[in-house]
Order: sequence, then C-alpha cells, then structure tokens
Amino acid sequence: MTALQDKFGRRITDLRISITDRCNYKCVYCRTGNEGALYGDLPFDDYLRMARVLVAMGITKIRLTGGEPLLRKGVVEFVRELSQLRRLNGNGAEPLDVALTTNGHLLADLAHSLKAAGLTRVTVSMDAVDPDRFTRITRVPGGFDHVLGGIRTARRAGLWPLKVNCVLMRGFNEDQIIPFGMFAREEGVIVRFIEFMPLEEDRMWSPSTVVTLDEILARMAEYRPLVEIPHARSETARRYRFDDGIGEIGIIAPVSHPFCGHCSRLRITSDGKIRTCLFSAWDHDLHAEMGRGASDKELAEFICRVVQKKEERHHIGEPDFVPASRTMVHIGG
Ligand code: SAM
Repeated sequence: MTALQDKFGRRITDLRISITDRCNYKCVYCRTGNEGALYGDLPFDDYLRMARVLVAMGITKIRLTGGEPLLRKGVVEFVRELSQLRRLNGNGAEPLDVALTTNGHLLADLAHSLKAAGLTRVTVSMDAVDPDRFTRITRVPGGFDHVLGGIRTARRAGLWPLKVNCVLMRGFNEDQIIPFGMFAREEGVIVRFIEFMPLEEDRMWSPSTVVTLDEILARMAEYRPLVEIPHARSETARRYRFDDGIGEIGIIAPVSHPFCGHCSRLRITSDGKIRTCLFSAWDHDLHAEMGRGASDKELAEFICRVVQKKEERHHIGEPDFVPASRTMVHIGG
C-alpha cells in the first residue's frame, strides 16, 4: 500500500483515535458545565480495522484519546490488540508505539494492566498543582488526589517517562507555572505547558486569554534558569531542563509559534470520521465507507484522497479564522 504523504510533502506517521467523546471532567477551557450532545462511539473492532489499514500505510504511532478514554470498558484489551500490530520499516516489522492521553482520574486502577497490555507511554492532563484550583478548572470535586495517585501508580507500573500536560488560561492558572516547575523536579515527570486554543465549547477564547511561550519562559526564569534541549523538528514541544539538570519542562505553543509545517498527524473521531487538522471545517466519514462494504484497499484509497485535503496551517487569531466544525472534546486532542 502507498505511504501517506500530503500535498505539502508532510509524511503522516502519527494517528490519534478518540474512543469516546464522553468525559468525567468539565474543564473550563474545553467543555460547558452541562453534559451536552454526544456523537457516540464505535465497537473496538471497527477502530482496530481502521488502525490496521493505517499502520500498513506508514503510521508508526497511535495515541488513544477522547473524551476520556479510560471511561471506555475494554480499553485494556484494545491496547493489547493495537500493540500486536507491527509497523513496517526498512529492516522488517517493529512494534507500534501505543500511547494514551488521559485526565488520570481512573489511571491508578488501570496503569499496571495497561502497561502489561503493551501501552508504551501515557500523558496525564493536569492543570493545577493546587487541589482547590484544580477543582475550579475541572468542575469535579475531589479529583486531584485521584490524578496524583494515577501519576504515581503509572510511574511505578513503568509507564515512563511520564508527561503531564497543563493548558494555561489567563485568569485560571497562570500562577501555577512556577509550582509546576517545582512539581516536575519533585515528581520526576516532564511537565508540558500548552497554549490555550479556540476549540472550547464556551467560545471564550481571545488572544488575551492565551499565556504564551515567551511569558511562560519569563515566569519560570524567575524561579530557576532554564537551558533549551535540542528537539526534533517534528516534535510539537520545545524542551527545556533546569540549569542543575533536575527536571524537564516543555512548551507546546500552537498559537504563538505554530508548527503546522511539520504536522504528521491524522485524527479519527469516536464516531469514525477522519480529521486532517484540529481546525478542519469538515471531517471525512471512514466508518461510512466500512458500512458500505469497502475492502481494505478501498479504505486505503479513501484515506489517501482525504490526506490530500490536509490543511496547510491553522488561522488562529487571523481575521479569516473560522472555528472548527467540532470542539476539542468531540475531536480528541
Ligand atoms: N480526557 C483526556 C485528557 O484529559 O487528557 C483526553 C482528551 S483531552 C480533550 C486532550 C487534551 O486536550 C488535554 O490535554 C486537554 O487539556 C487538551 N485541551 C482541551 N481543550 C483544549 C484547548 N481549548 N486548548 C488547548 N488544549 C486543550
């Protein structure tokens, strides 16, 4: 089958599959306080077939996301099946890199089974190291201890190195920058700050709500000097270590320093649609192709056509910006 490359010459190697758009948190920068309508999800066998076709086309890494992926019963078994897929390289077949992004609420109970099933890495989203602030953001009381417990159990289970992602939003948690620097050093995790993007249900994004890379660096430098670590061009995060070698942080800056030119991603939503960009105005119904009886070869041809439509870049903050056709929780971040 053909290797996946878009019309701008970007190789597509990284697939994100959302396995549910349900979530047990209502983070202020993502959802409204209400439940809202859902797009729903598919049987795991359907995602597995999509993954198998895409891995044969050059995908080397699959990240499960949501909604909250750990809400889905059967997720451990699904990870086991994915980890048995083999990616092709010049020398033969290699195991696939199977990762997971979670809010960590249910991680303590599942970390050891996920590791045993073949999960390679986990990223935990956590937007405050202060429990009260954490609750103000997630709008679910008592979650902080679950998430911290999840992070520590994942570490003991060998899901390592572990990344903790923090979306910064002005007025909510920009004062958590230095505490997160301390947390990275104390817990031995890589903390990555993410600039807030206009993908939230409440439509409250404006340029002034974004805490930018420059601001994060300046604030952290008041605590301890940082040294930049060289990073691969395809990596989304700029990486820094503290001057004494203890602790690493990263900054993902899609708003102030876009990295669309190196984007290697494709997303499948929980209802089986392909999205070529977080900010796409359309999605492409791969599940409907399966429903009409398409062969694997026909699915691959459909995917190749879709990839040619991948957007060159996003237009956040520009006068011609059009909001994406779905919000983050229904895309899968
Ligand atoms: N529930 C899982 C979690 O919390 O990691 C997976 C889904 S969540 C949508 C994936 C990531 O998207 C999280 O790190 C979350 O913080 C981030 N996210 C959600 N809305 C965002 C926004 N508007 N801007 C930037 N990141 C956002």
